[in-house]
Amino acid sequence: MRAGVFRGVRQMPIEQVPDPVAGEADIVLNVRNCGVCGSDLHPYAQGVFGDVGQIMGHEFSGEVIEVGRRVTGITVGDRVTGLPIQPCGRCRRCRESIGHLCEVWNTRSIAFGLPGAFAERVRIPDAVLGQNVHRLPDTVSFEAGALVEPLAVAVHAVRHTEPRPGQVAVVLGLGTIGLHIAQVLLAAGVAPVIGVDLSALRRQVAQQLGITVVDGAADVPAAIAELLDDGEVDVVFEATGAPALLQRALELVRPRGLVMAVALYEQPAQLNATVVVHKEATVRGSAMVTPEDFRDSIELLATGKARYEPLITHRKPLDELAEAFEAQLDADKSVKVMVTTGDA
Ligand SMILES: [Zn+2]
Ligand SMILES: [Zn+2]
Repeated sequence: MRAGVFRGVRQMPIEQVPDPVAGEADIVLNVRNCGVCGSDLHPYAQGVFGDVGQIMGHEFSGEVIEVGRRVTGITVGDRVTGLPIQPCGRCRRCRESIGHLCEVWNTRSIAFGLPGAFAERVRIPDAVLGQNVHRLPDTVSFEAGALVEPLAVAVHAVRHTEPRPGQVAVVLGLGTIGLHIAQVLLAAGVAPVIGVDLSALRRQVAQQLGITVVDGAADVPAAIAELLDDGEVDVVFEATGAPALLQRALELVRPRGLVMAVALYEQPAQLNATVVVHKEATVRGSAMVTPEDFRDSIELLATGKARYEPLITHRKPLDELAEAFEAQLDADKSVKVMVTTGDA
């Protein structure tokens, strides 16, 4: 089959690789869609957080074409999406039932150790329906199915903040994860949800989704204060990955408030810890997704409480994977670049 293989900084050729074969406990999908993730850009553009030789692609949907003999409840022809993270089930984190933080996940997960879905087909090992395989309702297209994973990442991050009506939230960075976080917050009754980004395109998409926007080039604290009268910001999500903005998030949040970091930082961030102390603030991270996040994400898409169409700015066939990555790199002109495989 054809697959895009990461061969070094800004090198993503399409190569012929062996077809995946389902073992007894596995399934194989015909990939229909796979989104380019902001996290894919760290290896692609900077050579960090990823290995040469890896087939990336962890936001995928497809049709089941092969089912191992020990797999139950999944049939050839099922329309599904899958969790990329494959916990080992044996390490300390897995035994604590926080398998998404498995100590060896990145050696055994789809697109992290195992081949990803920027390919014609992908194998899901140890396939269990409702765990690492989720059926798409008829109302959820393959394209939406490829956005279940990033929406689930947002669901996971928002869950940590116990969202409720009356809360005020700020989201720094309106890429796919930031936009999805804002949508999940709005669905939970948090209002206003104020999104900040430098990109006019991303602010425009955010406005279509009901998010209040502030230009990242403006005096952001003043602009937010103006929007809130005397209100305060309960939680700030940092979704840009710019180290300096973690400190900004800390300055924006109210005393006893929560700063939630959801990006990957290529450089260490400096935080004024005295502000953390004086505010009794919490600075927390959110990583990965769980099967529960996937279920909630599919529900949000199926009910229209989260929308995905406005996020897709580019559609590219698998053969143009390098162009897809280049398009995703241009934050001014892209939100989500969607790769289409076969006749999707
Ligand atoms: Zn991702
Ligand atoms: Zn584990």
